[in-house]
Amino acid sequence: MSYVDEIYDRVVKENPCEPEFHQAVKEVLDSLRPVVEANEAQYRRDALLERLVNPERQIKFRVPWIDDNGNVQVNTGYRVQFNSAIGPYKGGIRLHPSVNLGIIKFLGFEQIFKNSLTGLPIGGGKGGSDFDPKGKSDREIMSFCQSFMTELCKYIGADTDVPAGDIGTGAREIGYMFGQYKRIRNVFEGVLTGKGLAFGGSLARTEATGYGLLYITEEMLKCNGHAIAGKTVLVSGSGNVAIYAIEKAQQLGAKVVTCSDSTGWVYDPEGIDVAALKEIKEVKRARLTEYKSYRPNAEYHEGKGVWTVKADIALPCATQNELNLDDAKTLVANGVIAVCEGANMPTTMEATEYLQANGVYFIPGKASNAGGVATSALEMSQNSGRMGWSFEQVDEKLRNIMINIFHNIDNASKKYGMEGNYVAGANIAGFEKVVSAMNAQGIV
Ligand code: GLU
Repeated sequence: MSYVDEIYDRVVKENPCEPEFHQAVKEVLDSLRPVVEANEAQYRRDALLERLVNPERQIKFRVPWIDDNGNVQVNTGYRVQFNSAIGPYKGGIRLHPSVNLGIIKFLGFEQIFKNSLTGLPIGGGKGGSDFDPKGKSDREIMSFCQSFMTELCKYIGADTDVPAGDIGTGAREIGYMFGQYKRIRNVFEGVLTGKGLAFGGSLARTEATGYGLLYITEEMLKCNGHAIAGKTVLVSGSGNVAIYAIEKAQQLGAKVVTCSDSTGWVYDPEGIDVAALKEIKEVKRARLTEYKSYRPNAEYHEGKGVWTVKADIALPCATQNELNLDDAKTLVANGVIAVCEGANMPTTMEATEYLQANGVYFIPGKASNAGGVATSALEMSQNSGRMGWSFEQVDEKLRNIMINIFHNIDNASKKYGMEGNYVAGANIAGFEKVVSAMNAQGIV
């Protein structure tokens, strides 16, 4: 049996009931086959793949907090410190009822390669909790965040592990977590990114993931002879990534006609009104059902349906496995030319393969959503240097990083004879840097 298959079987056996983690490992290992085959003897001797798929450390803890009725609630907190070969662990904190160890491991594993692709010195990690922020009061959110950080603060630090936002964790939650870290540890340091601008946050961090997604999409289209201006675009989600993806797509001259949340989706044939979307989601923290009161000509539908609309480009920006094989078939039948992931692993493996087999340009999230964590690394640099860059400076660095990522994954795909396969290109380019650092550091 090949080394890759052996390791995949072991991952499935040793990590039962973690399908998302298996899926992430399978996608990476499958595309690494040519690299692994070329170095098989050395990798086997050094147990390189065994070390790659085993987190350096994983922490699971109790998070007790008191709700507004005076009742004690208990959630589970996680931090998976996956790989620190190229820098301190870096990755967001997801607060969502679906969170379990397998979800955090899949996200942490993806983060290793994503962070490597940014070209910046950050290792891979991820954290979270099954806490559901929906419908909670500000006081309850603070109570949870303080309890979560009371435990987490023992394991993180500006040069050790630097968490950030993800689904359910935005500026408000980062603020409460930062306050609690500073209070307990008595250090004011860049231990979290995505902070408020008044206490070390970076300009353009809020916009970074969505903007970065459009910068890489634009570069990829350009290199394949297409322009983004004039294209019709589908976006799913309505969180931080989706909002700023829509904003940048429109700035670049495209028309975004959809967005969605956990209960339904919007089709706005005139193009999504970003100001309205920001007010609904960022200010009111309300449902998309409200969108119609801003735009009477738009349609609101219950359930899932963004991928049924005819368009040129699809940008899944909601969550994992939200675009399946049937969706991919509909997109292809409707003439889509590109799918670029804003969320982490939003496309199932079968859907990805179908899109690629039908000539759709496909960029995986670990490359196309790397703008968020890249700008987090820029926030870390500003914090270490005790300085701040302008919005334009950060945005320009972000744009260059995304353009470089595209060329790196494109070149890696060509180097191994898989031109245009950006999934393989991203996994190989991300892996090569991590492996060279792991090799240089010996068996640790
Ligand atoms: N949660 C984001 C991601 O999936 C950002 C992580 C960070 O900024 O550390 O990459």
